[in-house]
Amino acid sequence: MSDPAWPAPPPIPRDAISPLPATLEVEVAILGAGIHGAALARELTLRGVSCALVDKGEVGGGTSQWSSQLLHGGIRYMLTGDIRQMREGLAERATWARIAPHRCRWEAFWMPHRYWLEGLAHRFGIGLYDHWGAERPGWSADLALGRVPQGVFQADARSAGGPFRGATAYADLMTWDRELTKDLAASSEAVRLDFHEPEGFETTAEGLGSVRLRDRADGTLRQLRARRWVFALGPWTDGAMAQWFGETRKRLRLSSGIHLWFDAVPGCDRPWAIRRPRGRILFVIPRDGMLQVGTTEREVEDGWVPIVAAEREELFEALEANLPAIPWRRMPVRSEELGVRPLVAAGGVTTHLSREAILDRHPRFANLTLVLGGKLTTARALMDHLATGLTGRRCEASTTEPLRLWDGQKAQIR
Ligand SMILES: Cc1cc2nc3c(=O)[nH]c(=O)nc-3n(C[C@H](O)[C@H](O)[C@H](O)COP(=O)(O)OP(=O)(O)OC[C@H]3O[C@@H](n4cnc5c(N)ncnc54)[C@H](O)[C@@H]3O)c2cc1C
Repeated sequence: MSDPAWPAPPPIPRDAISPLPATLEVEVAILGAGIHGAALARELTLRGVSCALVDKGEVGGGTSQWSSQLLHGGIRYMLTGDIRQMREGLAERATWARIAPHRCRWEAFWMPHRYWLEGLAHRFGIGLYDHWGAERPGWSADLALGRVPQGVFQADARSAGGPFRGATAYADLMTWDRELTKDLAASSEAVRLDFHEPEGFETTAEGLGSVRLRDRADGTLRQLRARRWVFALGPWTDGAMAQWFGETRKRLRLSSGIHLWFDAVPGCDRPWAIRRPRGRILFVIPRDGMLQVGTTEREVEDGWVPIVAAEREELFEALEANLPAIPWRRMPVRSEELGVRPLVAAGGVTTHLSREAILDRHPRFANLTLVLGGKLTTARALMDHLATGLTGRRCEASTTEPLRLWDGQKAQIR
């Protein structure tokens, strides 16, 4: 489980000292080792192209360890009408279940309803969601979908005393985001430069030429040269572009979201997805012997921001209003985490893959692409698309080749 939100960049573990040489040269330099950077490293390796994966922290140590950990079509898009994005997510969900079965677990999520007509609308929408998402490799036949029988609903500790009269179950895929990101990196032959801070760039006629990196473990300086560059810096993109190149243009809008982790509550066996105003969803998910609750939305200015009291309070109020039978405030919060969503600022050009993700060619450095926005769910597809553009080569194996497990374990903890 993740630490509480860091107000500052990650600390360096003692064993992070790198045996790498002082000068390195690769075809593609990837700065940022979240899910996008790690997925791109795998795509390039599958195409036989050399790359380096640089991060000032560790692989999967940023936003990609603070998500809601769902590989999903996004049931909320059923409410906002973004069916295309939803169907892209559903297709990708099936790909993840194929290539990363050990980091995925199918679940029957319950969406509760307050009144009969709402229940009918849920059944219709969820029916379509599960129809379009019918490809579910590894689906467990004992997970029931559709209308939840009244007796089963009432046996759930969350149904008592609240506004809900019943629920409809839909399928989605849970993952372990940090482990998945580390698996992607381990499935590449990238030169790994964890805990390396970029300090300055040299340019050439083609654009960026090299970067000077300081090894944060022991202060060693390294020079990394590359022909092409990809920055996948998540919510830190605007800050880095300002610091490195003096750019003031805002490419992203940042929105923080928090999760609280409680001890498991007896009688809460299925994950719940509760509709909230403005198309938002409150998730209450039993996993890994605990209960994960989230999330919120608050506009923020930076990727490293602490949780504010009002954010925590908003979550407690939503829990009490919707699930009053559970004594939320009396239960100790075992852990809390904050992640910052890198949302694309208005006015960008969209890719065909997702309206929330942009591959932005830098206007000054012709050999630099910025990855803006995106989701865990669509990261593989987006980086497949980018790698095809960078190398001119498609790669069928991207959707079929199983990931290597970074820790060598055979199965994910259930
Ligand atoms: C609360 C929340 C819930 C979410 N839930 C879901 C979900 O359920 N499903 C889903 O599909 N998506 C979800 N998302 C979205 C998803 O988590 C993110 O879109 C995704 O993790 C972003 O990955 P990334 O690789 O772009 O960025 P990151 O994971 O943030 O990676 C960026 C990397 O860049 C590094 N870096 C930063 N600055 C520098 C620098 N100067 N030099 C070198 N390296 C640097 C950081 O250390 C970091 O490792 C959620 C997001 C949030 C915040």
